[in-house]
Amino acid sequence: MGKTILVLGGGVGGLVAARELRSRLGREHRIILADRTGQHVFWPSLLWVMTGDRAPSAIVRDLDPLARRGIEVRRAEVAAIDPARRAVRLDGAEVVADYLVLALGADLAMDAVPGLGQAAHEFYSVAGAERLAAALREFRDGRIVLVVPSLPYKCPGAPCEAALLLESHFRRRRVDAEVTMYTPEPMPLPVIGGPVSEAVLAVLRGRGIAYHAEQTLARVEAEARQLVFADGRTAPYDLLVAIPPLRPPGVVREAGLLGEKGWIPADRVTLATRHPGVYAVGDTVGIMLAHGKPLPKAGVFAKRQAVTVAANIAAEINGLGGRTAFDGWGACFLETGDGRAGYGSGNFYAEPAPEVRLRPPSRWWHWGKVAWEKYWLWKWL
Ligand SMILES: Cc1cc2nc3c(=O)[nH]c(=O)nc-3n(C[C@H](O)[C@H](O)[C@H](O)COP(=O)(O)OP(=O)(O)OC[C@H]3O[C@@H](n4cnc5c(N)ncnc54)[C@H](O)[C@@H]3O)c2cc1C
Repeated sequence: MGKTILVLGGGVGGLVAARELRSRLGREHRIILADRTGQHVFWPSLLWVMTGDRAPSAIVRDLDPLARRGIEVRRAEVAAIDPARRAVRLDGAEVVADYLVLALGADLAMDAVPGLGQAAHEFYSVAGAERLAAALREFRDGRIVLVVPSLPYKCPGAPCEAALLLESHFRRRRVDAEVTMYTPEPMPLPVIGGPVSEAVLAVLRGRGIAYHAEQTLARVEAEARQLVFADGRTAPYDLLVAIPPLRPPGVVREAGLLGEKGWIPADRVTLATRHPGVYAVGDTVGIMLAHGKPLPKAGVFAKRQAVTVAANIAAEINGLGGRTAFDGWGACFLETGDGRAGYGSGNFYAEPAPEVRLRPPSRWWHWGKVAWEKYWLWKWL
């Protein structure tokens, strides 16, 4: 008998899960992909939308054409989830599935710190990156502050990438901009640790970007144009860019799916939740690593988790043995501006701590990221 698999979210994890399921299952099985926007965004390129190097139209695609591949696309709000019954309210109607894949990501929470939403730009949404690009075009001389207000955030490299791209952008435009970073973290990329963080710090220092670690933002005073930190210290800005705080999607919280760490607890290898037939992948999941820090929220993990989940659901439906495991391997480009990027890769599940190697910035890795962008949009959509 045909099964119904309902994939919630058409971002990285959901798109990959739906495509992988379709390629592994016969057409008697229904695959439904639901997303409120009906669109897929290649998020890493928002950094280039910010600097004016990409138009949003180059990195946003409609999900509708997936219908040609046998995936039912529903442009709909996921309004309620009953994980015990694998029932989901979509567009006012209930869909009951044999398998549920939760890939709803994380919501941006610019209201999490008083004053932040009114005062700060962000580049984590298409509209936000476009607004910031416009503000950068207008910016003359002054102090640009890039702040990480709270943890976790998406993509461990994004704050440093943004700072380096901004510095390069203004230097090339001969605008006298001073780029400064504030973060509650002790160092860049603390999940990976010392040597890689030192290498990134050296790149920042070499470009004159001041990195202020262990600074917890308490509020932003928009009229005074200053940040106020928990210890009472202040920092002025002319243009403020924030890495958005995150919270789990409301519908996931209301479904009672969250664990004590605030995200969906799932098996670190199979991504199974405590509800039979219900899996969770990507940013919405909380996985703790051996050294006590969480697995970063990154597309590379969402993608590999989605492949794992799809393979295992398909194997179960097809009555095949053998299970696929998510192994914690990840890789990421780190744009440094001036047409260069570094590249980090390694095993985040290594014990006692992740084993990740960073290749120094070069034109080669920058073109690698450009090729990845083109390949991703070609392969999955
Ligand atoms: C600027 C930027 C740069 C990044 N760079 C990198 C990088 O270089 N490398 C890397 O690995 N990662 C990077 N990331 C992180 C990466 O994009 C995320 O980790 C990844 O997208 C997570 O995938 P996901 O499927 O969990 O969530 P998403 O891709 O965010 O997808 C979630 C989907 O769910 C939908 N949705 C949410 N709630 C509902 C609802 N109630 N009803 C219907 N639909 C809903 C949303 O519309 C969205 O399409 C970057 C992110 C940003 C913002």
